[in-house]
Parts: sequence; C-alpha cells; structure tokens
Amino acid sequence: GGFQAMGLSQPVLKGIQKRGYKIPTPIQRRTIPVILEGRDVVAMAKTGSGKTACFLIPLLEKLKQRQIKSSGPRALILSPTRELAIQTFKFIKELGKFHDLKCILVLGGDSMDSQFSAIHQHPDVVVATPGRFLHVCMEMDLKLSSIQYIVFDEADRLFEMGFGEQLNETIRRLPESRQTVMFSATLPKLLVDFAKAGLSDPVLIRL
Ligand code: AMP
Repeated sequence: GGFQAMGLSQPVLKGIQKRGYKIPTPIQRRTIPVILEGRDVVAMAKTGSGKTACFLIPLLEKLKQRQIKSSGPRALILSPTRELAIQTFKFIKELGKFHDLKCILVLGGDSMDSQFSAIHQHPDVVVATPGRFLHVCMEMDLKLSSIQYIVFDEADRLFEMGFGEQLNETIRRLPESRQTVMFSATLPKLLVDFAKAGLSDPVLIRL
C-alpha cells in the first residue's frame, strides 16, 4: 500500500505527487493512518525519516480548504527553532499547493507588529516557536478554542530549548476536543510525563 491506499483526497495526493514522493517512508506508513483516524500520537522519529509529511498530510486532509469565517486558527505547529519552523512552513506551501489554506509564521526575533497583522489575516494554520507564540496570544488576547490539531515537532528539542513552561501554558489554553501529535527523536521521562498530561490515550509509534 502506497499513499494511494491511505484514502487521501485528490488535492493531498496531487501535492504528494508534486513533491515527487512515490512511496511512503516507514514512519509515514505507520503514523499517517493512525493520525487520520483521529488518535493522539507520540512518534519517535528523527529528521530525515520523513516525519514532517507524517503530520502535514493529515493536517491537509483534516483542514481541507480555507475557512475564512472560522473564529481562529484550526491548526498549530510548534517548532523548537526558527529554522525548523521556516522549513515546515515552506513544506506546507508545497504539499498544500492544491489547498487554499492560509498559513502564517510566528517566530521569535521577528517584529511583533508583523505578527499581529498576520494573525489579523485569519490564518487556518500557525507555524510558530513556542515563546513568541504565547507572547502574541497574550498580547492579542487570542483565543485558542478553534485549534483542532496541534503538533509538537522535535519535542525533545522543544524542552532542551527551555520551552517547557510555555508548552504547558499553551496546552492549558487549548480545547479538550483537539487532536495532539508529538514527534521526537528521543523520549526522556520528562516527555513521557508531558505526553501523559497533555495527550489523550496516545498511540506510541516507534520503528
Ligand atoms: P523530514 O524527515 O521530514 O525532514 O524529511 C526528510 C526529507 O525526506 C525531506 O527532503 C522530504 O522532502 C523527504 N521525504 C519525505 N517523505 C518522502 C517520501 N515519501 N519519499 C521521498 N522523499 C521523502
């Protein structure tokens, strides 16, 4: 079974084809169907494994098209560094070429004003570093009740970078009904505890 067998819609399949992917990587084969089912997932995967598409393909499948009337962003991706966030943002643009989702970047080091105006564009998806994201949320009194899907990418690095407190605070602001997925190269006890508190009956996937 390749991507065709995963029950993906045409816009998603076309995006995958456009990127030139023929067959899913092992981690994609394991995680995509489970995330599509709606389960929370903790996946142990390193950079280079194809992990980004593991959470972006289901994101595109769930969000489908732009929802301009929505009260706020529907998906949030938290990355440990600016560089990774920018890379993920570009990845969504390419893979989501056949969707018209509005996606924005909220990064530490960029001007707050540009981020306020980005939020005012009613994005469907926010890709952010955790400190700045929380800061912007508080400054703008942004409600996160519209978030349906949240990704903690490179979760071990998120904690190593000292974002633990911001991650917990972000989780507290999210609706109970969301789907949460976490990707990490390693799974230290700190992360297991975080997953127990913040994820709902997660499926653990390791290769
Ligand atoms: P990542 O682990 O997400 O950083 O991806 C590593 C590299 O693998 C990136 O250049 C991806 O574009 C590429 N990639 C991801 N999935 C596939 C696939 N199914 N087939 C070929 N290349 C892929």
